[in-house]
Amino acid sequence: MKIAILALQGAFAEHEAALRKLGAETFLVRNKQDWAQEKDGLVIPGGESTAMTRIMRDEELWDPIRDEILGGLPVFGTCAGLIMLDKEHLSTMNITALRNAYGRQLGSFYTDDEFKGIGRVPMTFIRAPYIAEHGDGVEVLATVDGRVVAARQGAQLVTAFHPELNDDSRIHEYFLDIVSAKSI
Ligand code: GLN
Repeated sequence: MKIAILALQGAFAEHEAALRKLGAETFLVRNKQDWAQEKDGLVIPGGESTAMTRIMRDEELWDPIRDEILGGLPVFGTCAGLIMLDKEHLSTMNITALRNAYGRQLGSFYTDDEFKGIGRVPMTFIRAPYIAEHGDGVEVLATVDGRVVAARQGAQLVTAFHPELNDDSRIHEYFLDIVSAKSI
């Protein structure tokens, strides 16, 4: 199983470590040549969605990435990665993210809560979004204080928090299960 990790900026190294620990092969994507490699899945990490948008466009990665996701490539977006998949950005998921949604005071916080099919998981939020609206085909996987913070649509998985920053690999495992189900 080979997972591409978008490494234009942000917290990509932590995803790399988490996925390798689970036995997946990974490679970093910084340009079109990297993207051209064979892959079974993609991770879009946290960072800054405005910067990520600009660099993706500059590197001409926007359309190729969007096309492969729409073609069924499994994708896991965390935080800014969630924002990248919403209707205002790549628009591969039927969700609208509200950016920096917790205000200045609560910009970053830690909690734990139920994740559908997994149980209680640690959740680290850093200037995080939440999913303000979601439509057909979107399954809500976790809420915190009534706000949707994790969801799935087919082979697309998003979390508003950062599972790669805690020593708990169950959400990465959940993503790899989606990837292997897809590649059978
Ligand atoms: N606030 C960032 C954005 O709007 C997301 C923060 C994060 O990915 N940790 O893109």
